[in-house]
Amino acid sequence: MADTTLITRLDTRLDQLVNIDMGERGVEHLFEAARALEGRSLIGAAADALMAVPEGGTVVLTTGSVSRAWITPDLGENDGPSGAAAIARALVLARSVTCVMLCEETLLPAIRKTCQAAGLFPVTLEQAAIAKADKSLATIVMLPYATDDAGGQAQAEMLLADLKPDLLFSTERVGRNEFGVYHSMRGIDYGMGRARVDFLFDLALERGIPVVAVGDGGNEIGMGKVADHVKAHVPYGDKCQCGCGGGIGAVTSCDVLVTAACSNWGCTAIAAAMAARAGDAKLMHTPDREALLLDTMVASGLINSTHGIVDDSVDGFPRQSHIAVAELCRTIVSRAL
Ligand SMILES: [Zn+2]
Repeated sequence: MADTTLITRLDTRLDQLVNIDMGERGVEHLFEAARALEGRSLIGAAADALMAVPEGGTVVLTTGSVSRAWITPDLGENDGPSGAAAIARALVLARSVTCVMLCEETLLPAIRKTCQAAGLFPVTLEQAAIAKADKSLATIVMLPYATDDAGGQAQAEMLLADLKPDLLFSTERVGRNEFGVYHSMRGIDYGMGRARVDFLFDLALERGIPVVAVGDGGNEIGMGKVADHVKAHVPYGDKCQCGCGGGIGAVTSCDVLVTAACSNWGCTAIAAAMAARAGDAKLMHTPDREALLLDTMVASGLINSTHGIVDDSVDGFPRQSHIAVAELCRTIVSRAL
């Protein structure tokens, strides 16, 4: 049984670590706002929600961002996929959860490879059910999501009915603003070729299904929870450059919002907090695995969107910083393991 006061202190340190605004994006303001609403550690609240998923339950995850769809829809960003893979891995190991990852059909190959490098073999829903029954294989189910509004709304209804998820998790997944436009951090309309997964999250919230969301910029699913602060503190938060009349802030809210200077860091910290709760180091996203996933994302053609090139910097932060965050998260929670 974990020492709850120790866990609370570790949660707070994880929050502090991943919310140092190294990218100068205004995330510290979003963190303060989200922290005040939550009344406790964001990382801790997210880890508690994920660890509350029943044994053998189902979690729907999403990540992925078509980065330059006006050139090709096959190109995705490298912030998001490794973090989502780390969370899915922790859920499978902790709770034998069936994880269903949603993204654009065009990004499925790259995100599938990233999940596989995190230890999860991609299978169909039917195969996942067999694997869960005998606990013989750590799996993940990858499904494409519609890239038009009507399709996104229809698929939301179908997926909730078919999958009956216990929780939805999003990281670095752009959501529409109040005018239905999906914006980049530079305030440009980049809805083209983008999965409308935010409609699924809206429907889940309406129906009382728990939603945990990670973001670093204000334009992601979940940031609707701190919409006023996105408007006030994030570049293009109140007025974009596309002329739609709104800002880049996503309208879709969540139950637990995790802010971080880089969304992948938020996921690394959540996995560490899950490991601390379970007293099980296997749930950690380790520095070695982070290095492997960075290499896998390069090999899969995922882009460092800040510099417009396929390399192992993420959000413009160099490779070693991501490995160091994983190391520091591990150091922070080591007292509970
Ligand atoms: Zn706009």
